Amino acid sequence: MLKYLLLLFIIWLAWRVYRVSRQRLARRSEAAPSAPQDMVQCARCGTYLPRSNALTDNLDPGRCYCRDHAPASHNKP
Ligand SMILES: [Zn+2]
Repeated sequence: MLKYLLLLFIIWLAWRVYRVSRQRLARRSEAAPSAPQDMVQCARCGTYLPRSNALTDNLDPGRCYCRDHAPASHNKP
């Protein structure tokens, strides 16, 4: 009788470990998606790039450029 109780306990324990590991995996995959980035267009080639990667002109801060077309007086926004 004790043998069956021990077997049931082991099965229950394995099931609990399985459930907890599944919940942890689900929580990891539910991690907050990254916030949408503001996209800007290069004033020379028209390529869209994230504002964080764009370079601006010190003389004309309204214009953004990609790394390939950065003006000499560029400034990272
Ligand atoms: Zn460009």
